[in-house]
Amino acid sequence: MNDDDVKKDEVTEDPTQEEKKEAGQEETQESAYEDVCFICRRPESKAGKMFHLPNNISVCDDCMHKTMDAVSRFDYQNLLNNPELLSELNKHMGMPPNMGMPGFGDLAGGIPNSQRVKKKKPEKEKKKEEAAEQAFDIKNIPAPHKIKERLDDYVVGQERAKKIISVAVYNHYKRVATGTMDDIEIEKSNILMIGPTGCGKTYLVKTLARLLDVPLAIADATSLTEAGYIGDDIESVVSKLLSAAGNDIEKTEHGIIFIDEIDKIAKKSDNRQRDVSGESVQQGLLKLLEGADVEVPVGASSKNAMVPMTTINTRNILFICGGAFPDIEDTIKKRLSKQNAIGFNADLKDKWDDDPDLIMQVKVEDLREYGMIPEFLGRLPILCPMHSLTKEMFIRILKEPKNAILKQYQKLLALDEVDLQFDEEALSAIAEKAKERKTGARALRAIIEEFMLDIMYEIPKDDNIGRVTITGPYIEGKGGPLIEVRSGGLIAEK
Ligand code: ADP
Repeated sequence: MNDDDVKKDEVTEDPTQEEKKEAGQEETQESAYEDVCFICRRPESKAGKMFHLPNNISVCDDCMHKTMDAVSRFDYQNLLNNPELLSELNKHMGMPPNMGMPGFGDLAGGIPNSQRVKKKKPEKEKKKEEAAEQAFDIKNIPAPHKIKERLDDYVVGQERAKKIISVAVYNHYKRVATGTMDDIEIEKSNILMIGPTGCGKTYLVKTLARLLDVPLAIADATSLTEAGYIGDDIESVVSKLLSAAGNDIEKTEHGIIFIDEIDKIAKKSDNRQRDVSGESVQQGLLKLLEGADVEVPVGASSKNAMVPMTTINTRNILFICGGAFPDIEDTIKKRLSKQNAIGFNADLKDKWDDDPDLIMQVKVEDLREYGMIPEFLGRLPILCPMHSLTKEMFIRILKEPKNAILKQYQKLLALDEVDLQFDEEALSAIAEKAKERKTGARALRAIIEEFMLDIMYEIPKDDNIGRVTITGPYIEGKGGPLIEVRSGGLIAEK
């Protein structure tokens, strides 16, 4: 067979496929509607299986039997011989009076779609559609400012991080969609997030994956070890993503892998022992970050003879690594003061000591100094430093995001028709307490849950309660909440 034959074959195959496609589309459009009985007007879901007659007419089992009975008992001859009766019957059915015996076949076109009932969608499908409506289409990714706008609904502050991530994600998926990674070697936009614990690294990535409707795997770098040692081997992160994508290979290859606690795999300065969980893990991650074919087990977390294997290409998977890098500020400070130590513009030695946002000035060299190997850092070209959260940000996190903790509690109590309010003093006290715990915004939920327990237990007992106001003294354990009864009267201020 020469080249021409091959082309001809392709050409002759195409139309049939197209026809099939069209037919398939019609089928799905058609199946969105339910048939309705032409006689009793009940839909198929109520009346049961239908008989399908020409011209799209459907008749349910009951009506068909009744009709058959009636037909068998009917005196046609008498009707046809009696023009008055026939014209009366035609008038009744909306036909011209001089028409002969009416029949189903006379009603060309059958029942239009506008008169048919749409099938109820199964609950699961409905939810899927809702999620898809909210999500972006990664094949036609919106501009970075649109991505950031959506992130703003959930993530408070961290403006620079949200900007960096929106641009990186935009570039990444644009590249994936157009496939330009094949022709010109464009670097992948893998991201390294640096910020203290609880500042929203994981939350930002989770929100992003949800908005993009791509699968997300979250792994912990501390549990990874060089293959063959106790712990998860490095490729297990890809099998996690495969299971998050419901074993769909195509989805997996467009997913996001977030590796947390990346600072814990920094090179140890002690070189006497074999470093199976530090530098070797960084080495092992190199080929994944860059893009490689990896063999992963399907439906299991470890490789063994009993599970089938599949190959996943990681070239289009977006890797985001996150770490707190404690004390990296010292390295940054050292670098900055060395740079500016000479000449007229020399800085004072302690200029950077009280700067809470020193982390924003982090550079690759600081991370190298910390123990990350240059090859690893080279494969995470986008540095995304994050602010540590301030008291004002804690207060905003409590009330502003779409799914803010306070909104959640307010909704819960609203179901009992109780209005829950927090006064400014209370919010400030909660934020203060959270700051003391030094675990970032994670502390907020824990604190709120502690004092909301009593409220959630006591309030539903009394139907008269209309409003509860959480006050500063209540948070500090020096007083009770303000409780108002439905008529507006104050019943207790313990
Ligand atoms: P980490 O930086 O340690 O990964 P997380 O992302 O897990 O921290 O944050 C813990 C929780 O704190 C999140 O589940 C989220 O509810 C809340 N949170 C943290 N930062 C923010 C933020 N900037 N905006 C809104 N919520 C936040």
